Amino acid sequence: MIRLPGVLLATFSLLAWSQTPNPAAEPRLKVMLDPGHGGDDSGANGAKGLKEKSAAMELARAVGAKLEAAGFQAAYTRENDTFIPLWDRAKAANDNGADLFISLHLNAAHTKAARGSEVFFLSLGKGEDDEVVAAENAGAGAGQGRSDTVLASILDDLAQKAFLQDSERLAVAIQGQLNRLAGIKERGVKQAPFIVLRGAAMPAILVEVAFISNPREEEKLKDRAFRAKVAEAITVGVRRYFAETNGGVRRRAVEGPD
Ligand SMILES: [Zn+2]
Repeated sequence: MIRLPGVLLATFSLLAWSQTPNPAAEPRLKVMLDPGHGGDDSGANGAKGLKEKSAAMELARAVGAKLEAAGFQAAYTRENDTFIPLWDRAKAANDNGADLFISLHLNAAHTKAARGSEVFFLSLGKGEDDEVVAAENAGAGAGQGRSDTVLASILDDLAQKAFLQDSERLAVAIQGQLNRLAGIKERGVKQAPFIVLRGAAMPAILVEVAFISNPREEEKLKDRAFRAKVAEAITVGVRRYFAETNGGVRRRAVEGPD
């Protein structure tokens, strides 16, 4: 795991932002936001009735608005309460030419006290948190997958494999901001075999923003001001990531040099 000292990061950011390209000359960097679950798949439920699919949608709208205000372009894998198979979400990002893919979820645990945020990038092997992976991968559904062929599965892994380092960098940038700006307890950056991240031909992460199973965090998620803070944190993380990578990595592995 790469952890650069904060001072160094700040210096890089300043250097990169002093060379911000003319917005008219370049298309805006596009971020595909993926609100988890939808339709019949509610995801996890809070004790007071908040559904993960609804909270994720509200968070995605808030993040999208902040990103647009910061000069990025936001796109969505779903904009209403419909179910999109996991495999189609990364594909939508690829088809849209997105520069980043961010899947938004809420965590759940048996212990009500569990709290905080976790940011994941893809693990090609075994993950660090089997319970979370089982919950989030359940939405792939039987017969909707591309895991039915070994070749498709390998190709999907290869697509994201080229971006793992960048995905980790993005995850670290966003986790740091969630901790700092949104005041959410940091649980760290982790790697796990999330189906939704496979096949994404761009840096891709999954954010478990907070624990919907924790009554205090469930209350927070219902609060527009809290969601705005989360959105601000993710937007600052995205901006930092692009600053560090000097404008981002544009689908280099798939399309090759122009
Ligand atoms: Zn979820």
